[in-house]
Amino acid sequence: MRGVVFDGRQTVVVDDLEIREPGPGEVLVAIAAAGLCHSDLSVIDGTIPFPRPVVLGHEGAGVVEAVGAGVTHVVPGDHVSLSTLANCGACAECDRGRPTMCRKAIGMPQQPFSRGGEPLYQFASNSAFAERTVVKAVQAVRIPKEIPLTSAALIGCGVLTGVGAVLNRARVDRGDSVAVIGTGGVGLNVLQGARIAGALRIVAVDSNPAKEEVARQFGATDFLTDVGAVRELLPSGADHVFECVGRVELVRAAIDLLDRHGQAVLLGMPAADAEASFVPAALFLDKSVLGCRYGSSRPQRDIRLYADLYARGRLLLDELVTRTYPVEDFQKAVEDAEAGRVARGVLTF
Ligand SMILES: [Zn+2]
Ligand SMILES: [Zn+2]
Repeated sequence: MRGVVFDGRQTVVVDDLEIREPGPGEVLVAIAAAGLCHSDLSVIDGTIPFPRPVVLGHEGAGVVEAVGAGVTHVVPGDHVSLSTLANCGACAECDRGRPTMCRKAIGMPQQPFSRGGEPLYQFASNSAFAERTVVKAVQAVRIPKEIPLTSAALIGCGVLTGVGAVLNRARVDRGDSVAVIGTGGVGLNVLQGARIAGALRIVAVDSNPAKEEVARQFGATDFLTDVGAVRELLPSGADHVFECVGRVELVRAAIDLLDRHGQAVLLGMPAADAEASFVPAALFLDKSVLGCRYGSSRPQRDIRLYADLYARGRLLLDELVTRTYPVEDFQKAVEDAEAGRVARGVLTF
């Protein structure tokens, strides 16, 4: 079968991948579509260290092909959107509704793939850039068959991360003011999360003026190309500022933009050893800086919620998919993503 493999030097689309059968508690999924997320590129450029060779991809949707012993919540033929959280379901963090904090959620990378007898690692417990993959039952969330799989694919990373950061982590309230720095795949989902939460003023900031139209479509009430201009719109600052770029000077800018009791939510991924600076006194008025893993999501609940909001026209998915590519055109999808030409490129099988 086909798949996208990174061997440590180059990324190639191969057609001789093999996948093992699902074991107890596992689901074999035929991937129909998978979004190209920045984290896949971060594996290739080394920002995210991951053992190799590895099958990339972590934002996918498809059709259940087989289930292992003990799996009852999905059956072959079901459409599923995949989460990357292989949480155990039995620890204290899982039990208290914080699966993103489960210490087994990432765990030891598995090697369910092989090629010419050589085992290959699975990225993010997922590897959606393969015709078939094996995931833990908890990662396969059934979705209505009416949702195009090219759109449903995006729920598993960009939507869970962006909308989840707003609803689960920041808990944006009706009437709040929100600033969103960066309007890529995650930033656009933060914008629509803020709209769904009932925020009144939603200011999008992106250095690329071409992003204004799509930012407003997703929920921005204002659009700026310069983060320094946000204070002109929100003189006392914002209740919530989301940094979605991953640059340390923008982390500083996010903190400086906070109103009293405001919170800066850091969603961008600077280099692992990057340091940001800020003035501690600036936080004294009950301000916070929040990290956020995977939108603090509970995937079995949240993916279904987002599918429902999509069906009611309140959550945009189709509009995130700028372009689809057959998996063979992986390199073209990378070039378009790196040039900022797409909100999300989606590979299809
Ligand atoms: Zn991702
Ligand atoms: Zn757990």
